[in-house]
Amino acid sequence: MDKGTLNTTFPCLMQPLDLGFTVLNNRTIMGSMHTGLEERWNGFNKLAKFYEERAEGGVALIVTGGISPTFSGRLSLFSSQLSSFFQIFKHRKVVRAVHAYDTKICLQILHAGRYAYHPFAVAPSPIQSPISPFAPKALTDKKIKKIVGAFARTAKLAKRAGYDGVEVMGSEGYLINQFVCSNTNQRDDEWGGCFENRIRFSIEIIRAIRRVVGTDFIIIYRLSMLDLQAEGSSWSEIVQHAKAIERAGATMINTGIGWHEVRIPTIASVVPDAAFSWVTKKLKQSITIPLITSNRINSPEIAENCLQKGDADLVSMARPFLADSQFVNKAKRNQSLMINKCIACNQGCLDRVFKQQRATCMVNPRAAYETEYPENKAQTQKTVVIVGLGVAGLSCAYYAAKRGHHVIAYDAANLGGQFNLAAKIPGKEIYAQTIRYFDAQLSSLGVDLRRNHKVVFEDLRDIYADAIVFATGVTPRRPSIPGIEHFSVMDYETAINNKSEIKDRVAIIGAGGIGFDVAEMLIEPDAEDYTSRWYAKWGIDIQYRNRGGLLAEVVDHKSARTVYLLQRKDEKLGKNLARTTGWIRRLTLRKAGVKMLSGISYEKIDDFGLHIVHQGVQKTLAVDHVIICTGQQSENDLYEQLRAIGQPVKIIGGAKKAAELDAETAIREGMKLAYKL
Ligand code: NAP
Repeated sequence: MDKGTLNTTFPCLMQPLDLGFTVLNNRTIMGSMHTGLEERWNGFNKLAKFYEERAEGGVALIVTGGISPTFSGRLSLFSSQLSSFFQIFKHRKVVRAVHAYDTKICLQILHAGRYAYHPFAVAPSPIQSPISPFAPKALTDKKIKKIVGAFARTAKLAKRAGYDGVEVMGSEGYLINQFVCSNTNQRDDEWGGCFENRIRFSIEIIRAIRRVVGTDFIIIYRLSMLDLQAEGSSWSEIVQHAKAIERAGATMINTGIGWHEVRIPTIASVVPDAAFSWVTKKLKQSITIPLITSNRINSPEIAENCLQKGDADLVSMARPFLADSQFVNKAKRNQSLMINKCIACNQGCLDRVFKQQRATCMVNPRAAYETEYPENKAQTQKTVVIVGLGVAGLSCAYYAAKRGHHVIAYDAANLGGQFNLAAKIPGKEIYAQTIRYFDAQLSSLGVDLRRNHKVVFEDLRDIYADAIVFATGVTPRRPSIPGIEHFSVMDYETAINNKSEIKDRVAIIGAGGIGFDVAEMLIEPDAEDYTSRWYAKWGIDIQYRNRGGLLAEVVDHKSARTVYLLQRKDEKLGKNLARTTGWIRRLTLRKAGVKMLSGISYEKIDDFGLHIVHQGVQKTLAVDHVIICTGQQSENDLYEQLRAIGQPVKIIGGAKKAAELDAETAIREGMKLAYKL
């Protein structure tokens, strides 16, 4: 494509932004994401490579993960802090790596306040957060002033390290946000009481930073524009706060949505695209400095649309840059289909960070592992046959081909495996994008793709290959319950593929990830506007009439179907679902009136329905269908046969181990094997 045709598809996204003293070469920001590398030995060398790949990928500005200005403000005892001169040297590695490209980088300063996961937590008032086991100590006036000074000190150190600016984390319920809202700030001194007093802390921080860094330094303030809690700010207070932040010397304002403790999803895949850009737009008329919008923006099309509609001046995306470091370059080349889209699963990133593990990305397992899995060619080109193109096989085929191997890949259907089912679940449609991405990449890498070809023994008995990789996946497990052959019984694959045939009363046996998926599918009405229903379901008022942007009343939309979700274990259903999304799934089913029963034993299935014993009481659930979601078993017969005749077989994904296998592990296994070939 010649230069003249560049920027025609995403003109707003690619338009430079003049900040007065500095020009950003496009309108994309990589939002703050903690990777866990910040605290590891040698972590900053790895972090430098991680950011370097994103800078090389064309993003205009990177915001680092949150770094605390003080010990008490650390997210956990061993989280990062920048408060003394000797700490700047490791930061310089990151800055230098990014500045090799036309990309700017800001350090995010985050004080966790009562969200600090340690006994030294502090807050405006000694009120414990519902998501922390630690009660915070109330700050004295002297300590508050010290923290203001500490923010300025960190900003000054950031400037000495070479950063182009800082982002001050004022949202998501962290310390600054705790000062702003009355439920967490019950002080009666100059830092509490009326709204002017409650925003004094944030204003003083911005002023103090501007004083020490001078004018030629970016200060982004992440403003909580929608607290999503009953005692959050009103709209007029948000405007008042934003204007005060602008006057105090901020360069730009970023959009923060929701407190971490609030039980309303803000970034999971169920959240509609750009679901909160309307709130950024609402502020635009009151503010002259540039505004950044964020949350659930994961493609150039969505980003461009936000900018075209005038919702914001810039678009921030965090997880999409984990999924694809080359996001901006591909958008510039008008290759949106080649972008590995973030599917907002949180499994590789946030779920791991919450377990104190190193973040990565389910759809891009190289993310934050760039030094361990460099983008280089293998020393010897090999011939690799891959059987089965679910996500494990797709990943293996992709990385093997990228490393220069000759890859022949078979699938009995047309790629994607279990992801095809996931993509049929409401709120997970985006999973289809991962299949689309791998499909496009395999074609462009010249993989010999043989779709709709069910491999048999004779196909591979005499074939020459350096490796034959089995990624043949799983088949649904069928439990031995009397009456399992009854016509009302179907497995989850049949149910998901034939939703329209499912009648009004359903019992789901098995409450793992797939049992929940099937329940979510059954409660979602067809042909209704998902986005407006979604706002109503979670009580979000896009008119912003009440504090926190909440509707005065939330009416639960009960499902038209009667749905039972059942498990044998006598424990809370969905207990083992992912940390950052499991609560959304449980709450969604509860709101819809799904009957979730544990401690069940299954007696039989017959014309009257499903007979169970629940807490010692025999019951018959009069249902039209019994859907079996009781896990899977591996599909690996052919692997065993070929192994027996000495073919160089390998096995990955569900074919190797069906129990507790998830897509994140499957994709990672595919990559790891490709690097070992
Ligand atoms: P699973 O998580 O292993 O759940 C299987 C369910 O079936 C359990 O509730 C189990 O509970 C029940 N069960 C097992 N054997 C049974 C038997 N013989 N008779 C009756 N009930 C039985 O499997 P899955 O739901 O199929 O999920 C497979 C994998 O995909 C999992 O790793 C899951 O995490 C992943 N996945 C993740 C998501 C996501 O959104 N993150 C979505 C779908 C799948 P009891 O034994 O207590 O009855």
